[in-house]
Amino acid sequence: MTSRILVVEDEVKLAQFIELELQYEGYKVTVAADGLAGLTTARESHPDLILLDWMLPGISGLEICRRLRLTGDKVPIILLTAKDEISDRVAGLDAGADDYIVKPFSLEELLARVRAHLRRNQEDNPDLLKFADLQLNRSTREVSRGNRAIELTAKEFELLEYLISHPRQVLTRDQILERVWGFDFMGDSNIIEVYIRYLRLKLEAQEEKRLIQTVRSVGYVMRD
Ligand code: CA
Repeated sequence: MTSRILVVEDEVKLAQFIELELQYEGYKVTVAADGLAGLTTARESHPDLILLDWMLPGISGLEICRRLRLTGDKVPIILLTAKDEISDRVAGLDAGADDYIVKPFSLEELLARVRAHLRRNQEDNPDLLKFADLQLNRSTREVSRGNRAIELTAKEFELLEYLISHPRQVLTRDQILERVWGFDFMGDSNIIEVYIRYLRLKLEAQEEKRLIQTVRSVGYVMRD
């Protein structure tokens, strides 16, 4: 699964450098150049990790951290800071950051921290499945796209869970039928098309990008 990282950094050259290096490592990267854009993007796109500069025009990194935590957002946050006094580090961690890196940092250190926090987050939430801005929680059965909660019926949920557990993998109609409706399903196999249509209507209710793609005469695939 491609992890999505939000970089909030107002130093253009540094932001570009981090973006390119993270992309080279295979991450999907979004850059925000000021505090407000950073906070808005974090809330709307639900990245898997945020690299957050401390000193930002508009809202500070520390304040973004506080506001995200206030609304219950548990996204891993690594603060990037030029400050290296102990009190600042404590303030950052108090505000809810998971880690901090003092500038200037080495690329290897940055990448190692990013990997560690992404891994830990996945281990902490094995029931949380994500694809692009879509999230499905197996244990609470909650589904959301960005900030928008989506209500699904039991069958729609099972179908989406199957698709999202196999990102970018083409699932044949037979596989889907067997897995979601069971071997002994005797009804009309058009049932899959019908349910895919229901799911798309709900997932794209606000004109969002299509995530469930049709593979003609084969089946379906979750693809961005
Ligand atoms: Ca800055």
